[in-house]
Amino acid sequence: MSLDINASIKAAYEAGLKASGGKNADYIPFLAKVPSDLFGICIVTVDGQCFKVGDTDYQFALESISKVFTLALVMENIGPEGVREKLGDSPTGMPFNSVEAIELNQGKPLSPLVNAGAIAAVSLVPGDSADECWAKILDMQSQFAGRSIALSDEVNVSEQTTNFHNRAIAWLLYSAGTAYSDPMRAVEVYTRQCSTLVDAVDLATMGATLANGGVNPITKKRVIQEGNVAPILAEMMMEGLYTSSGDWAFTTGLPGKSGVGGGLMAVIPGKLAIAAFSPPLDDAGNSVRAQAAIAEAERHLGGNIFRPK
Ligand code: GLU
Repeated sequence: MSLDINASIKAAYEAGLKASGGKNADYIPFLAKVPSDLFGICIVTVDGQCFKVGDTDYQFALESISKVFTLALVMENIGPEGVREKLGDSPTGMPFNSVEAIELNQGKPLSPLVNAGAIAAVSLVPGDSADECWAKILDMQSQFAGRSIALSDEVNVSEQTTNFHNRAIAWLLYSAGTAYSDPMRAVEVYTRQCSTLVDAVDLATMGATLANGGVNPITKKRVIQEGNVAPILAEMMMEGLYTSSGDWAFTTGLPGKSGVGGGLMAVIPGKLAIAAFSPPLDDAGNSVRAQAAIAEAERHLGGNIFRPK
């Protein structure tokens, strides 16, 4: 297995290097400044082995990938049925920040992995203050990563001062009755959760915790209940790569989640997770190199969950 993984990660890196095009997200000023040529891949297995190549210690903004861990936190509190009832469980087929996710579904945001559902998910995290709610979210990210994850003040300021569209989404949720706390508090904490920094090793460890049934394979600590893993992976399969989620499922058959910071995490349940980071994004908002690299790794390692074994 180790030899296979070494060869696969090398092939994945080469495939990623060959993929060109795309550009850094620029609607968040911080992201436009990240060097575009950074590229790293990491695989963490369910028995805690770690394989890496390239810029795997560069810390980048977690962005939309944070939605997975807040979904996990909310699901721990209210269960999969609570998530279905309050946030929805279906793909939107629309861009990540579309207000139609709310408009088309009588106020319920359809999916916890688009901005509307993710802001509503934050509003379900218990806490008397924004800081109390934030502490729970940061602790969940840290438990998944197996180390203390921290907020980047620079990313956070860049986002908090430009997140007008997300604030509009929060008010739409409020008017529809699906903001479950003060909407401006929810969007402020949501923006913080997008502004934490991880490297590719952290991201692969976070994915490997899902691959390993909710137990972090490095710390060996249970982070979430085993029964909550499958519904989270189902959400990732349906909505993890924005409007390309269907293409991604068709190509790789892997639950994945990307972020506009250039990170992409994919999970092979019961085996391992692959994370890749490269800032230039395609038109749908997914890292060009990370997609090419992970698709190539899947071709080598197998793992497409739809393929008969
Ligand atoms: N903070 C970003 C936003 O909400 C995250 C978007 C993403 O990575 O998809 O606009």
